[in-house]
Amino acid sequence: MKFYPSNVFIEPEAENYPLCKELINKFKFLNIPVFNFKDFNKLNNFEKTSREFYSFSKRSLIVGIKKSMKLECCKPSADYQFSLVTGCPGSCEYCYLQTNQSFKPFIKVYVNIEEIFNNIDKYINSSIPNITTFEISSSSDPIAVEHITGSVRKTIEFFSNKEFGRLRLVTKYSNIDNLLNINHNNHTKVRFSINSEYVIKNFEHNTDKIEDRIKAASLIYKSGYPLGFIIAPIMYYDNWEEEYRRLFEMLKNNIPDPYTKNISFELIQYRFTVKAKNIILERFPNTKLDMKEESRTKKWGPYGIYKFVYPKDTSIKLKEYISNLIIEYFPNSTIEYFT
Ligand code: SF4
Repeated sequence: MKFYPSNVFIEPEAENYPLCKELINKFKFLNIPVFNFKDFNKLNNFEKTSREFYSFSKRSLIVGIKKSMKLECCKPSADYQFSLVTGCPGSCEYCYLQTNQSFKPFIKVYVNIEEIFNNIDKYINSSIPNITTFEISSSSDPIAVEHITGSVRKTIEFFSNKEFGRLRLVTKYSNIDNLLNINHNNHTKVRFSINSEYVIKNFEHNTDKIEDRIKAASLIYKSGYPLGFIIAPIMYYDNWEEEYRRLFEMLKNNIPDPYTKNISFELIQYRFTVKAKNIILERFPNTKLDMKEESRTKKWGPYGIYKFVYPKDTSIKLKEYISNLIIEYFPNSTIEYFT
């Protein structure tokens, strides 16, 4: 699935950058209306309901520049995170962006790529001789707009020359043609976010089908990239065991066997905060997400708010079952963490 916005808005500071000019030409060629950013609020007027605002924003793309160059930590996935994009055309009901960017659910792409790269260099150089890892999927799914910007490809090529820098990304999209047959030098790890049929069908709207994600993963693997899978959020529901087994069967049938490179798995069980629950219920009033606080354990989160996780016995069941599937289907792979 390839996303194209219904409206594009240009921030004035972006206009001097070559990528901005390239994008404006591309949108004009595609007959997608291009406005100044100040028109965003005019078009997206505040009389809209919260759901209309969300839906309009999800179809809007902003072209801007990244101003803040201070990078945040990104444990356990990487040392730091940075963004080429914020926001996402996907509408996963459980997504952290529902709360993180609740007032700005639009998609914003950054065109000052060279400045972003210069900043990365500073972080890498300050840690030599240690290798510094960077995640680019913490505030978006950058592959969702890669056919528009080409920025992930440029970033992979940038990292291919970095002896002490490594890149990681994760996606629910299959739009990776742009990344095949380029020099990645094994410095970028591409992970695919996968899940059971029930989770994808009910909660991951406007993302790619599991078959397409797995097909893309196999192409990434054949192109020699380090490959990983994130199963998140792992959910507990009727038939969960059967469905997660089916997922692994599908994966096994598509990843070349015997696989010669290490494949990794990251496992994240479903959790929610009260703030997320309130926003989700407003945007998806018929959601099937199970957000009953009384059936969960309260856990203090890293951002100073409580999150609700499965009780210990359920969590252990999930961890053991999925870990055993991994050992059974991909015995030489690594489980990086379960959280
Ligand atoms: S694809 Fe990823 S970033 Fe996009 S809405 Fe879904 S979970 Fe969020």
